[in-house]
Amino acid sequence: MAGTLYVVATPIGNLEDITLRAIRILKEVDGIAAEDTRHTAQLLRHLQIHKPLLSLHEHNENERAQQLAEKLEQGENWAFVSDAGTPGICDPGARLVQALHQKQICCVPVPGPSALATAISVAGITSSHFHFEGFLPVKGAERRERLQILAQIGEPIILYEAPHRLQKTLDELYTIFADAPIVVARELTKVYEQICTTTLGQAKEQFPTPKGEFVLLIEPLMEKRAVDKEQAALYLKALMEQGISHKQAAAQTAKQFGMRKNEAYALALKEEE
Ligand code: SAM
Repeated sequence: MAGTLYVVATPIGNLEDITLRAIRILKEVDGIAAEDTRHTAQLLRHLQIHKPLLSLHEHNENERAQQLAEKLEQGENWAFVSDAGTPGICDPGARLVQALHQKQICCVPVPGPSALATAISVAGITSSHFHFEGFLPVKGAERRERLQILAQIGEPIILYEAPHRLQKTLDELYTIFADAPIVVARELTKVYEQICTTTLGQAKEQFPTPKGEFVLLIEPLMEKRAVDKEQAALYLKALMEQGISHKQAAAQTAKQFGMRKNEAYALALKEEE
């Protein structure tokens, strides 16, 4: 009979966050496939677990999936862990699991930490819906496209971001969401953990030299409110500078600031003068 692949979540910082079940499974399996074997070796040393390791990362996932499938078909049980958190969430794992599903090999989830769930738990988001974006594309048309899609989403948006891109991302998010509330969750479960509830207008100054790992949770402003025309004009100008047409920029500004469309269009024409 074929063995089982256990997809095991591991801590995102604090090693005490590993579950009892994860420890037991890691002790019981024949081997552990890991995104970065050196990184996982440290966790296993801490847990006093000694197992054969196999590297499986985004550049060899398909090939390794076939090798693992063979081992599982021979009746071995294996675990897969990413560097931190839950595999498959902005981490390898999906293609491995897909390949095993195709061969009718059993994949068992062993849930545990994820930066996404951890950040949500302390963000105070009351909406029952949210959009998880993960990482934005680094640059170019693809990035602009995703930002434009985000601008249309009227629910909380959650992003992962690297420290060296934080300032640029906050700038661009400001042009889309104006001064919307944001929670910046930094270094979750670690010594320098920080949960900062602020606005997009202020966030950049609060993290002048960002260090560590970040989750950003933005709540787009949807309610009708007294329109700050100066801010609406700045927002609209930034959209037009990104190459968005007058009409589209006006529609987006109207939605974001609760303005009438013709009022926003008049602002767009004024900007062009
Ligand atoms: N699979 C992981 C999970 O379940 O959350 C995510 C892996 S992704 C490659 C790494 C990103 O997750 C980081 O760049 C950061 O945005 C976020 N992240 C991971 N650990 C974090 C932490 N302790 N605090 C804040 N963000 C974290």
